[in-house]
Amino acid sequence: MTRQEILYHFRQNPDMTVLIIGAGINGIGVFRELALHGVDTLIVDRGDFCSGASAASSHMAHGGIRYLENGEFRLVREALVERNRLLRNAPHAVKPLPTTVPIFHWLSGIFNAPLKFLRLRDKPSERGALVIKIGLILYDLFASPYRTMPTHRFADRKQSLEQRPAINPDILFTAQYYDAFMPYPERICVELVLDSEAISSQARALSYVSLHAASGDTVTLRDELTGETFAVKPQIVVNAAGPWIDFTNLAMLHPTDFIGGTKGSHLVLDHPELYAMLNDNEIFFENRDGRILLICPYLGKVLVGTTDIRIDDPDLARCTEEEVDYILGSIKLVFPNMPIDRSHIVFAFTGVRPLPSSSASRTGAISRDHSIRIVAANEVIRFPIYSLVGGKWTTFRAFAEQTADKLFEQLGITRTIGTEDMPIGGGRNYPHTEAEQRQFLNDVHTKTGVPLPRLQTLFDRYGTGAETIAVFIAAGEDAPLQHQPDYSRREIAYLVEHEKVIHLDDIILRRTALAMLGYVTGGLLHELAEIAAPALGWSAEQTQTEIRRTISILETHHRIPAETLQLAAV
Ligand SMILES: Cc1cc2nc3c(=O)[nH]c(=O)nc-3n(C[C@H](O)[C@H](O)[C@H](O)COP(=O)(O)OP(=O)(O)OC[C@H]3O[C@@H](n4cnc5c(N)ncnc54)[C@H](O)[C@@H]3O)c2cc1C
Repeated sequence: MTRQEILYHFRQNPDMTVLIIGAGINGIGVFRELALHGVDTLIVDRGDFCSGASAASSHMAHGGIRYLENGEFRLVREALVERNRLLRNAPHAVKPLPTTVPIFHWLSGIFNAPLKFLRLRDKPSERGALVIKIGLILYDLFASPYRTMPTHRFADRKQSLEQRPAINPDILFTAQYYDAFMPYPERICVELVLDSEAISSQARALSYVSLHAASGDTVTLRDELTGETFAVKPQIVVNAAGPWIDFTNLAMLHPTDFIGGTKGSHLVLDHPELYAMLNDNEIFFENRDGRILLICPYLGKVLVGTTDIRIDDPDLARCTEEEVDYILGSIKLVFPNMPIDRSHIVFAFTGVRPLPSSSASRTGAISRDHSIRIVAANEVIRFPIYSLVGGKWTTFRAFAEQTADKLFEQLGITRTIGTEDMPIGGGRNYPHTEAEQRQFLNDVHTKTGVPLPRLQTLFDRYGTGAETIAVFIAAGEDAPLQHQPDYSRREIAYLVEHEKVIHLDDIILRRTALAMLGYVTGGLLHELAEIAAPALGWSAEQTQTEIRRTISILETHHRIPAETLQLAAV
């Protein structure tokens, strides 16, 4: 169904079983569970799919080794199992990530860690070799179900300096273990939405539609493209608005205090020397204040983050100058002589973790676990609201499953199918070995005539979805983008026509990594807008409005300097 058809449908038939507010990874996970069971469901997001906290993560599918010292064993065990499942179910979008921890002390933290487990200490302290060793043994143990990657190992100072000559020479050891990396988390979200709509005609998804108000048995939604409102009558509402949960509950006349969000910013650096020094490893290290940061290879660039700062209104979250100083300064601890400054930044992003409200004196001590908070129906609002509080990207499937089981109980539905082993999008029928991949690419080449190197690029981006895209590409005249030849005109046209694109920024920020890789220029924006305009029915004036809107987002939220985008400011 198209957006217009879905809107028309609900204007004619306002009754539905479940309304999900918020299409971040957690709302979308629940959407898939309900689609699999044929439940009449609408998911809405006031912005694009995956444009909130889910677009601002460190891009890691991980167990969260750090959470062990907070005693969050349940979460770490669950997250490691889910990480391993993601590697299997979305191998095109979740990749093994060797992770190196620089260690500067032998014994520090040895007394603090048990005190933290017992909640007798709430202060960060430097983690020494022994504490890290114990943590990694536990991590390996918890990761054993569905293990797909090697266990940890230590390298001494000499070996560590051989591997990375620029590393801080004060180092005693480096430890290496494995986690996983998601280069395109936003794509996983959109693939899950498309999978769900393909599974069930009762599952409908609308971006740029927001919760406006609620009263009695009615929820009023607003189409953000036109400003028009329309009413729906759900039996149950799932509030999956992440850091905005309390705001949306308030709009539904149920004031809550579930969320105590913390802001986290990341920078993407174009720094070939730093990139080379990573040796394809993420460096996971402790800053002087005890916070854990990461320096991670990102498709030829370097991702660095993050901060952890309390914030009341997620709409005000921006990456500040102080955060830039903090993040850039932290790299010096690992690579003291590497020249790094603001000129290396090509992109920045900030998001708010939807953590449970907490009185912990330190943000790092706030639980990263998830919970479902249920507000029962009453005389003012005649449907229950299930709020999804917390939740890591990594654990979305488990959280969605737990939520769906509660919804099924309320709706009298028996679970008939699980998602543990369910492939996602381009992870379906994924060729795992090199020989299988060669065969896949040769078959698609024979079918479409698209050259093999180009197919390899498509496969790296879209997994087995590359086949559908290649068929689309082959059906018309294609050419590399003039301003970014790594992408082609028909590839972009495919994303626009088949992946629920509404605005120009959806293309550069969430259907592709063009913005995150620092590739956006005025020329590129014009070129993309010109490709999208016919499919989305934009007039010349609307096309200019789209370009201006995108420039404004890039300048305000992503620190892309105006000069870079100037050509587009027509
Ligand atoms: C800095 C940072 C780093 C992180 N790193 C990692 C990591 O490496 N690995 C990991 O596993 N997890 C990580 N996380 C955690 C993870 O990203 C989040 O917990 C998770 O994405 C939350 O998803 P969500 O769907 O609950 O919320 P969101 O993704 O925020 O989704 C909520 C949605 O609700 C929408 N919404 C709000 N108000 C309304 C309304 N009125 N009407 C309609 N829609 C509305 C918003 O637009 C938004 O899209 C990180 C988080 C942050 C912020």
